[in-house]
Amino acid sequence: MARTFFVGGNFKMNGTLESTKSIVEKLNSAPLASDAEVVISPSFPYLAAAKSIITAKNISVAAQNSADRPNGAFTGEVSVAQIKDVGADWVIIGHSERRTIIKESDELIADKTKYALDNGLKVILCIGETFEEKQANKTLEVCERQLSAVISKISDWTNVVVAYEPVWAIGTGLAATPEDAQNIHADLRKFLSEKLGKSVADSLRIIYGGSVNGANATSFKDKADVDGFLVGGASLKPEFIDIVNSRQ
Ligand code: PEP
Repeated sequence: MARTFFVGGNFKMNGTLESTKSIVEKLNSAPLASDAEVVISPSFPYLAAAKSIITAKNISVAAQNSADRPNGAFTGEVSVAQIKDVGADWVIIGHSERRTIIKESDELIADKTKYALDNGLKVILCIGETFEEKQANKTLEVCERQLSAVISKISDWTNVVVAYEPVWAIGTGLAATPEDAQNIHADLRKFLSEKLGKSVADSLRIIYGGSVNGANATSFKDKADVDGFLVGGASLKPEFIDIVNSRQ
């Protein structure tokens, strides 16, 4: 089953209006692989500006979080309708920084995923184990628990991309080896096949995130179950273009 190569760029809480626009302008003028789906995720204040100047047809925009309810007295939260209103099609949900620092639970992440999908946003759903959990051989147990919370709430996975992002690899320069990523992705796809059926699991993209850069991206090229990347730090740099083009 051919799955479209997907590269997400998570800018996190970085940048200015000017630097965000400059990244988009560089992507617009770069020779980007036309068969890659690229989704960039600037901070909320810059979503509209980024979207308004994108000219490349395979680039869209994601928010980094969305609320699990329509509107109301939830200071600091941003709704799915507001995100769509400024032209974003995607949202990143369950990033480890929100799970660990903001203490979002599996259940809240599942609720946010359901609400976003039901209301027309596509979801990059992040899962992954901490260093301690990896040391305790709990990688699959943790990822399956995180996925199960969402499986219990949604039935249509068409608009979901799963990002496997081991927490110990995020921002550390220590990427998982392509072989380890492939093995975990294959195990996750097997688990998803058991829970959701083979055809859903075969068409669902499972991307890897954690210290991917312009130099190591090509080493994942022949890994059948690694369908792309979620990129943090390197998405702010020119090498993001090399990552998008790493399958060519
Ligand atoms: C991320 O934050 O999703 C991420 C993968 O970060 P980095 O690429 O910087 O490790």
